[in-house]
Amino acid sequence: MNHRTLIIGGGLAGCTAALELANNGCEVTILEKSDRIGGKVRQYGCKAAGRCNNCGLCLAGDLWNQVENHGKITIIIGSRLIDVLGSKGDFSVIYKSGKGVLSLDRIQDIIVAAGFEEFSTVSSSSLEFNTEDGIISGHQMEGLFSRRTNDGIFTGSPGSIAFIQCLGSRDVREKAAYCSRVCCGYSTRMARVLKYYYPEAEIVFFYMDLQWVEAGEYLDRLENEGIKFIRCRPVKIKAGKPNRIQFEQPGTAAVVEKDFDIIVLTEGIHPAENAERLAELCMLKVDKSGFLKNVKGGEHTGIYLAGCISGPKRIEEVYSESLAVARVILGRKANDGGSL
Ligand SMILES: Cc1cc2nc3c(=O)[nH]c(=O)nc-3n(C[C@H](O)[C@H](O)[C@H](O)COP(=O)(O)OP(=O)(O)OC[C@H]3O[C@@H](n4cnc5c(N)ncnc54)[C@H](O)[C@@H]3O)c2cc1C
Ligand code: SF4
Ligand code: SF4
Repeated sequence: MNHRTLIIGGGLAGCTAALELANNGCEVTILEKSDRIGGKVRQYGCKAAGRCNNCGLCLAGDLWNQVENHGKITIIIGSRLIDVLGSKGDFSVIYKSGKGVLSLDRIQDIIVAAGFEEFSTVSSSSLEFNTEDGIISGHQMEGLFSRRTNDGIFTGSPGSIAFIQCLGSRDVREKAAYCSRVCCGYSTRMARVLKYYYPEAEIVFFYMDLQWVEAGEYLDRLENEGIKFIRCRPVKIKAGKPNRIQFEQPGTAAVVEKDFDIIVLTEGIHPAENAERLAELCMLKVDKSGFLKNVKGGEHTGIYLAGCISGPKRIEEVYSESLAVARVILGRKANDGGSL
């Protein structure tokens, strides 16, 4: 009997692990809840500005195409896990799809790769804002980048653009005291692209801290490129034409206002909405931030975690972690003589 692995979630993590396993002779089934594989990354755009800005997206390459056309990978879209029975080496899973409630048997390993939620999809912020024309989330901005042409991102000059950092992260009011780790990277790369196309545009970051993005004095480099940084958390964001940001002037208690044509809410990574249910079904635990953790290592339980389901990670981290998980499973397969 062939080694069979079930993967819950067909984003970057699930697809990377699936391809590595399938290329090494395993049968893989991906349960994907949406109507296509690829997760968030498939909706992102290149952030090169004249030269590559190392956003990590190239690592995905034509992954989705390879996974969709691999003879050893079965993708069940629109599906949801209902139950997991059995134990390492011989799991049965029950799932629901458009074809009703079905089961899969003789699964040796399970990889939970159900990813994360964007802040804008899970909660309304304690900041007041309306997502109207001109106020967009980081995810929506990624969508604009994915459709960029040789002429740029927008039709015409965007005028002035503000990035509000840490939206939904580093804030106990949002039940997310942690740093999402990826948003300083994607937002500052976006700003560089915007400056490249629209050198006249005013670009201002409202930030508290800048996470490591690339070696050297990154902040100085961005400022030299004409991008401005104001260290504060805005008090209020008002939608309108133009949009208005109220903030405490750094170094004083005075609240001042500044208008922008576009405001980007730099959202972070939140736990998957179904994390608790997945933890229950897959004998995992939920950490204090809501991400999944193994109770024991996957080598003992046959259930592995890959990608942002266990916490915020950049594309390159997700990619290497998912390859590593697949290789542990392949090591087990080799030790088991290729079959169980
Ligand atoms: C706005 C934004 C921009 C970003 N830009 C960058 C960047 O430029 N560079 C970078 O390095 N990182 C970036 N990141 C981080 C990047 O998005 C993650 O590293 C990556 O998407 C994680 O992949 P994943 O497979 O773990 O999760 P996801 O992309 O969330 O994929 C999870 C998949 O699982 C499916 N799923 C969920 N629950 C279930 C279930 N119960 N059953 C079946 N399927 C399920 C989902 O539909 C989805 O297809 C960004 C993050 C954000 C929020
Ligand atoms: S997608 Fe990212 S890594 Fe690839 S060329 Fe563009 S900026 Fe560079
Ligand atoms: S990566 Fe940057 S923007 Fe995101 S939560 Fe951390 S400090 Fe804030």
